[in-house]
Amino acid sequence: MTVARHEGRLQLCCDGCPASFPETYEAEDFATMIADARAAGWRIVKRQLPAEPDTRGLFGRAPRIAGPRRKPEPYSHTCPACLAPAEPHGSLL
Ligand SMILES: [Zn+2]
Repeated sequence: MTVARHEGRLQLCCDGCPASFPETYEAEDFATMIADARAAGWRIVKRQLPAEPDTRGLFGRAPRIAGPRRKPEPYSHTCPACLAPAEPHGSLL
């Protein structure tokens, strides 16, 4: 889960570390949140999701999935700290 919900408000969370974007937004301001995060150096990219296996040829109908349908998070969110290359420590060069 990379978009957390706090009392109806949205907060962007990094996929790579526990960091989260400091601002929270109303659900209808999702696009604003993405734009603000990008402006602050976050990288938000659409994932390449694997195609769902088509089993209709085997069973003659679309597969049924038990329970609530789980949707994979379609976007990845990475904070500026995770995007930056590791800082050299103690380099004397
Ligand atoms: Zn991060």
